[in-house]
Amino acid sequence: MLIKNAMVQGKQADVRIEKGVIAEIAPAIKELTGEEVLDACGKTLLPAFVDMHVHLRDPGLTYKEDIASGSRAAVAGGFSAVACMPNTSPVNDCAAITSYIKMRGKEVGLTKVYPVGCISKGMKGEELAGIGGMQAAGAVAVSDDGKPVENANLMRHAMEYASDFDMPVLSHCEDKPLAEGGSVNEGYYSTLTGLKGIPAASEEVMVAREILLAQTLGLSVHLCHISTKGSVELIRHAKAQGVRVTAETCPHYFAADDSWVEGFDTNTKMNPPLRSKEDVAAIIRGIQDGTIDAIVTDHAPHHQDDKLVEYHLAAFGISGLETSFALCYTYLVKTGLITLERLSELMTKNPAEILRIPYGRLEAGAVADLVLIDESAEWQVDKNAFFSKGKNTPFHGKTLTGKVYATVVEGEIKYQNGKITEGAK
Ligand SMILES: [Zn+2]
Repeated sequence: MLIKNAMVQGKQADVRIEKGVIAEIAPAIKELTGEEVLDACGKTLLPAFVDMHVHLRDPGLTYKEDIASGSRAAVAGGFSAVACMPNTSPVNDCAAITSYIKMRGKEVGLTKVYPVGCISKGMKGEELAGIGGMQAAGAVAVSDDGKPVENANLMRHAMEYASDFDMPVLSHCEDKPLAEGGSVNEGYYSTLTGLKGIPAASEEVMVAREILLAQTLGLSVHLCHISTKGSVELIRHAKAQGVRVTAETCPHYFAADDSWVEGFDTNTKMNPPLRSKEDVAAIIRGIQDGTIDAIVTDHAPHHQDDKLVEYHLAAFGISGLETSFALCYTYLVKTGLITLERLSELMTKNPAEILRIPYGRLEAGAVADLVLIDESAEWQVDKNAFFSKGKNTPFHGKTLTGKVYATVVEGEIKYQNGKITEGAK
């Protein structure tokens, strides 16, 4: 296969792919007879994105999403790989469930699906799940995401045990009692709306605990969906001390803030909640200076019945795969806050390295996981056009800049110009 007329690191180039691997990148490559040609028409070529934090809801909650619909949403969003959290039904706490997810991801054959196994059996926070068995079945990390591991000693053992398997531990940082019953960020807008607040401290006390455990044990920990200024400061300080901590944030923590909850739109409800403008500014600084390593979607699709209820009863989360790149491009790159190269590190290289999984690079010999981006395209978010079953987005109707044009996974076009390529089951 040949990709013609792409912009590769600022220069026009053609890219030949053979057997799923980049064979050659050169200014002009002559096409062979019968070769499949994708004309990029000057669009920008990047390594395809890696989302290390999605919820595919499969098994058991497939009225919200399943591995097929989630995979379609992923390739439409430019992702060649996603890591899916284990809070399914049943939860992914054993090799049998891990195998099912892995097998189903392969069968669908769009994006690469990497299962994340539970830290604790039944995600109950009491005893460790069988980490080695899940790894043998294909799990790339462990997490009780959706819930914090409240018992610090159990988290300590998880870090120790996972390190023996060279697996990252992904921590959902939340102090449950502090956050209990809350729907929105604690502050001006919780007072204004009368909705119970979730204080920044509910995230930060857990961030501090994980950092202290990692420091004491000399082990690594990855912190999920960081949303507050205090968390950024704690992580920045820890990294300066040499603590092996990595962190992710999501587009909604820099593209939106807690003023959005004023209209009681339940699509603005997520956990952690949208934070203050001051927090947003701190998240952006953390992205700029490397305190934040990765941008993930925390793709959390829900059925409309989970959202068409009173705000305090609505489910937490947004459908994020299909707006992630455009939100990052619009709010970070177009504004000049970071370069496209830095965004590529945040969306591809760093998350893949944290998970120790392969990822695309723009060089001969690299796996051909690629995305073509139209940097000048302006488009309006339409939730009804999502491939995801989850239409829950607070960005519906927003005009964004930067659009995914095509996604190539191991040398095969999986998505192009609004359409999923045939073959998805
Ligand atoms: Zn979480």
